[in-house]
Amino acid sequence: MNQITEAFLHDIPKTDLHVHLDGSLRIETLIELARERNIPLPAYEPDRLKEILNIGGIHENLESYLRVFDTTLKVLQDEDALTRTAFELAEDAALENCRYIEVRYSPILHQREGLSLPVIVESVAAGLREAKKKYGIMSGQIICAMRHMPPQSSLRLAELAVAFKNKGVVGFDLAGGEMNNPAEKHAEAFAFIRKNNLNSTVHAGEAYGARSIHQAIHDCNAHRIGHGTRLRENGDLLNYINDHRIPLEVCLKSNAQTGAVDAIENHPLKFYMDFGLRITLNTDNRLVTDTTITEEYKLACQVFHLTYDEVKRLVVDGFKSAFMPFRKKREVMRLVLDEFEQVSQKHGLRSEVATRGVSRYAIDRIGEDPMPD
Ligand SMILES: [Zn+2]
Repeated sequence: MNQITEAFLHDIPKTDLHVHLDGSLRIETLIELARERNIPLPAYEPDRLKEILNIGGIHENLESYLRVFDTTLKVLQDEDALTRTAFELAEDAALENCRYIEVRYSPILHQREGLSLPVIVESVAAGLREAKKKYGIMSGQIICAMRHMPPQSSLRLAELAVAFKNKGVVGFDLAGGEMNNPAEKHAEAFAFIRKNNLNSTVHAGEAYGARSIHQAIHDCNAHRIGHGTRLRENGDLLNYINDHRIPLEVCLKSNAQTGAVDAIENHPLKFYMDFGLRITLNTDNRLVTDTTITEEYKLACQVFHLTYDEVKRLVVDGFKSAFMPFRKKREVMRLVLDEFEQVSQKHGLRSEVATRGVSRYAIDRIGEDPMPD
């Protein structure tokens, strides 16, 4: 019987497709940047600051969780801070063998000191480039429009994303509080993204019901769904998303903190996997949620008793769902599967599906064709 250990989960190659730059600073960096810039913080000692901001704690709702960003955004208003935090985020991910990350943020929230939108994107790109040079970690940026902002600002951000397509930007997103801010309001920006052949994802089904996922798919033509926690409330839509292999970006710990689920045990992750949905595991916010990608895998394994083959499937689905050109993805997938095999051998783990001769998910055929569906 395979024993999935934390060391194994740390060593396997992973992705993080849903991680917010402004929610993923190191706490020490937040304090240091604030000091350097004379920005007052409620505390300057890491543990005390974490306590005051309720970092890693349970929040009343998504809106209260999002208030932590008021503090982090104060220090992210210049080029150096953006480059440094982007580099450190990629570095932290690389050090737990995350091979590919898609870093998201809304450039419009970083203009308080007068930075232009292109300079903001270039500053983040510089940090990610540096991390690639040092650790080999691949990455891309996702530009977020904000639900509560006017549709015109979403359109400006969509134009920015398209201008930087293949120059660091790999996708477009809609973030922020879902309540009273329907995605359809931003349909024009998403139409512009679609016409320009750019990838998109939308935060949906986190605080609001399955209707927000319906809007994300049909009004915004999202290629992936951020969270999708409440998709289980609409079986018809669940089947549509499954049939079209639309990936869900699941963030377990964050969902328990924002109240999207009342406890991780009640997250639909296992039901979704058993149903055949394409599921990816992600951090959402390394700082605000106080998590890592290894921690998210660990939680999934502990709470849902995942098997070795299910862990492998999550890894494979992570890379499959990346906003990466198909041909490049195929190459990356070959390397990832080789590495997964080596790490498994090192930890004495092997497929249980193959030994039983039963193929539930066609994972055992991946060696022949890395993209079976
Ligand atoms: Zn998010």
